[in-house]
Amino acid sequence: MQLELIAAVRNGEIFALYQPQVSSLTGELAGVECLVRWRHPERGVLNPAEFLPTVEDNEDIIQLLGETVLRQACRDAAAWPGLFIGMNISPVQFRLPDLADRIVAIAEEARFPLNRIELEILETSYFENPDHMREVLSGFRKLGVCIALDDFGTGYSSLAALLELPLDKLKIDAEFVHKFDDIRSASVIHAIVALARAIGLKVTAEGVETEQQRSFLRSSGCHFLQGYLFSKPVVADVITQMIAAGKVSPQLN
Ligand code: C2E
Ligand code: CA
Ligand code: CA
Repeated sequence: MQLELIAAVRNGEIFALYQPQVSSLTGELAGVECLVRWRHPERGVLNPAEFLPTVEDNEDIIQLLGETVLRQACRDAAAWPGLFIGMNISPVQFRLPDLADRIVAIAEEARFPLNRIELEILETSYFENPDHMREVLSGFRKLGVCIALDDFGTGYSSLAALLELPLDKLKIDAEFVHKFDDIRSASVIHAIVALARAIGLKVTAEGVETEQQRSFLRSSGCHFLQGYLFSKPVVADVITQMIAAGKVSPQLN
C-alpha cells in the first residue's frame, strides 16, 4: 500500500475535495475543510478510511499526502476571496522536525496567505509530546496560521490541552451533533460552547445533517457549521460556483 500510494501521488491520483463551513448566523460560506481522496485506477474514488489506516504510522507517506492536498488547496483557493482552508494534520506529522518549514514553503510557493490556513489537529498530538506541540503550534501561530482542535468531545476533552495550546477554534465532533435530541448530548454541546467562548475560541459543529440540528446549534452559540445539510465534500469548481452565486462571507479567524 505504501509503494502504491507513492505511485498514486506521482500519477496525480491523490486529490482534495472541499467541504463548506458556513456561518451559523447567515449560512454564508466562511471556509472549507480539505479532505483527501484517491482516484484508484481499478477501485474508483476511495475515502480516507479505505487507505489512511494502513499507512497512518508512516509519517513520510502521511506528510506526502498532506503536502499533495495542501499544494492543490493553495492553488484552488487562491481565487476564493478570504475563505480559510482547514487542513487535517495527523499526529505523526508532528514528529517531522521541519513540518512548519514544509507547510510554509508550499504556501509561499503558491503565494497563498498563511492567515487563511487553519490546521486541524487532534488532542492525541498534544498527549504524545505536550512541550513539542506547544512550541510547534506557537511557531505556526506567529506566522498567522490558525489552529483548530478537531473531534473535540470524543477523546480526553482535556482542559489542560485547551489552556496550554495556542488554539483559535474547537470543532465539536459529529457524534454529539447527531444525538442533540438526547438532553445529555445537548447539555454537553452547551457546555463545550460556553467553555470555548469563555476562553475566546470559535466553535464549529461538524456533521450537521438536519434543519433541527442547525437551529439548535445556532441558538447554542456555535459560530460555524459543517455537514451534509449544507454540502457534501465537493470538487473545487463547485466551491467556485457557490462563491459566484454570492454565498460567501469571508471571515478570517
Ligand atoms: P474529519 O477530520 O473528522 O473529517 C470529517 C469527516 O466527516 C469527513 O469524512 C466528511 O466527509 C464527513 N462528513 C462531513 N459532513 C458529514 C455529515 O453531515 N454526516 C456524516 N455522517 N459525515 C460527514 P472523510 O472525508 O471520509 O474523512 C475522514 C477522516 O479522514 C477525516 O475526519 C480526517 O480525520 C481524515 N482525513 C481526511 N483528509 C485528510 C488529510 O488530507 N490528511 C489527514 N492526515 N487526514 C485526513
Ligand atoms: Ca478534520
Ligand atoms: Ca472532525
